[in-house]
Amino acid sequence: MGHGQSQSHAHDGHPGAAADPGGPRVALRIAVDLERCCGSGMCALTAPGVFDQRDSDGRVVLLEQFASKNMEDSVKLASENCPCAAISFGDVVLREQGEGRE
Ligand code: SF4
Repeated sequence: MGHGQSQSHAHDGHPGAAADPGGPRVALRIAVDLERCCGSGMCALTAPGVFDQRDSDGRVVLLEQFASKNMEDSVKLASENCPCAAISFGDVVLREQGEGRE
């Protein structure tokens, strides 16, 4: 099965955040809450390049802090499928490399 309905979890929109060559890049930032994680491993199955599990207790290990464009759908799916709601994500604007933090 698996009807590929794309539920858009559009929260508040970010006007002007469209892909703009030369402008700031928008990426999906991923966060996990180890307090909530119950070690089901769904995330590592859904997006193995982004999530792994600790050997000790099976809790999630975040391999990538930012999802590349082709991984965004997998990350969102992993978040939806996480039985403990331990995965969150949100758009961030990446500044040019070298500009550093504020
Ligand atoms: S799917 Fe959720 S509960 Fe399961 S290992 Fe990943 S973060 Fe933890």
